[in-house]
Amino acid sequence: MLMSDNLANKIAAGEVVEKCASVVKELVENSIDAGSSEIKIELEQSGVKSIKVTDNGCGMDNEDAVMCFYSHATSKIKNEDDLYNINTLGFRGEALPSIASVSNITIKTCDGENSVIYELEAGKIKDKKSGDLRKGTSIEVKDLFYNTPARLKYLNSLYTELANITECVNKAALSNTNIRFTLINDGKTLLKTDGSGNLLKTINDIYGVKIAKKMLKISGENDDYQIDGYISLPEITKSNRNSIITIVNKRVVRNQELNRCINEAYHTYKPDNRYPIIVLTIDVDSSLIDVNVHPSKMDIKFSNFDELKKLVFDKIRSTLDKTLLVPDIDNSSLNVSNIVNEIKIDESNDNEKKEEITFDFQDTDVVDNFVKEEDEKYNKEEKIILPKMYPIGAVLGTYIICQNENGMYIIDQHAANERINYEKYKKAMGNPKNDKISMLFPINIEYPTNEFIIIKENLDFIKSLNIDIEEFGVNSFIIKAHPTWFKEGYEEEFIRNILEKIVTMEKNFNVERFNDSVSATMACKASIKGNEAVSIEEMEHLINELAKTDNPYTCPHGRPTVIHYPVYELEKLFKRAM
Ligand code: ZN
Ligand code: ZN
Repeated sequence: MLMSDNLANKIAAGEVVEKCASVVKELVENSIDAGSSEIKIELEQSGVKSIKVTDNGCGMDNEDAVMCFYSHATSKIKNEDDLYNINTLGFRGEALPSIASVSNITIKTCDGENSVIYELEAGKIKDKKSGDLRKGTSIEVKDLFYNTPARLKYLNSLYTELANITECVNKAALSNTNIRFTLINDGKTLLKTDGSGNLLKTINDIYGVKIAKKMLKISGENDDYQIDGYISLPEITKSNRNSIITIVNKRVVRNQELNRCINEAYHTYKPDNRYPIIVLTIDVDSSLIDVNVHPSKMDIKFSNFDELKKLVFDKIRSTLDKTLLVPDIDNSSLNVSNIVNEIKIDESNDNEKKEEITFDFQDTDVVDNFVKEEDEKYNKEEKIILPKMYPIGAVLGTYIICQNENGMYIIDQHAANERINYEKYKKAMGNPKNDKISMLFPINIEYPTNEFIIIKENLDFIKSLNIDIEEFGVNSFIIKAHPTWFKEGYEEEFIRNILEKIVTMEKNFNVERFNDSVSATMACKASIKGNEAVSIEEMEHLINELAKTDNPYTCPHGRPTVIHYPVYELEKLFKRAM
């Protein structure tokens, strides 16, 4: 078989077969299409030496088996539109022939009646014999790129290849929880899922039990969309968005705006630049989506997108709102970011930054238990409130130590006060009643011309916040009254802050974001500082006020306000319990 020039060029450009992971993806998707309930992926040297995918699907007949490795030949694509139909998995057409042209392949397949084994070398049939096989297909791709110059140019480090393949198999497993997946590299099992159809169990198989136990179930629907899945507690975050996984009609897709919406739902529950672990399945009639399939990525457009975003946002928010989010200190894993089975994909291909890939397999009883617990928790509708706790004193003038029958709590006094003030200011700004205080000494503020112009354009808006402001001479304003909720002694700072934010937000001005940002900044300024003496009475007041907030668990910047040391963990620390 001869490659067309076009195809050869594409391969040279690394466009079609970029990495071992693309080969794995292609083969695994074929296996899924074949109706398999079990798919086993075996690698040698991270796939660089060999990639073997074995399934128990419907198998191929003799013709199909070899035809799928010829260019533009595939049994699934009947017309152009099929390529864009999300119900057909995978980019069909050129990937398999491309892979064949740059590797040595063994295909063993049995459709229940006939068995056949083909050996292909650079896309040419070298050998064909009949086999004696069980139903299903096994395809082994060896020595990828062996016949291309500068072979290694196409491949990343073994570590990166393996990380990419693992990510790809993880996604396949998450989108097909009813299929048993096994991933093995150089004889070592890296992933094994049970095919039970339970998403939380699959999350457990992939991320480990510590993460799985910190996932919250979400579910909801509107006229067009049904969403289900799991979201991580805000204490579990990652430095990149790779663990926000959205699955539309059983296929992992990426939509930046949807990711942004998910991240916004966590606003103030976690720092904005840290990202949650999310596995969200979205079911929708395929006529309402428009999928653009490209071998390396998939773009998707949704009809009634605002409705979908609202559904996702509201479900995540309401789930977080009703959950007790005080992080428990667990002595065995003090560092939550150092999680099991986290594979960092290093795009810079830097061999220095290797992370050990470890996997722990759990006892199924433990898993069954927390899967059940999570379901029970989900069915409870009432909001869980911050437990009553009693202050004892403060450490370093910053961390308030409290206790109750559940153990010890540590509160960051600044963060806690910041949360209280933030919610107070935000409510006041969102609903400015006409109550203001005239200032004994009006404030006069001067600005550079460009800033003066921006502020002048927004005078009506500033006045709507109950700030009496007027032009006063060249490039300056005079402020004569301010809202009652301004904290005494901080009047000028608050006003300057508001005017400054108007200038910096200028073109992208949005009232909601403006109120949020001003409230957060002012809350920080007006709150008790670290290393500031606070009496027990003041501590009690602070804790009571914190308990009344909508989200008592984090400050407006997403940092924790309260941490819990359970009795059992204290006992463990002092070896009273083992
Ligand atoms: Zn602060
Ligand atoms: Zn803060």
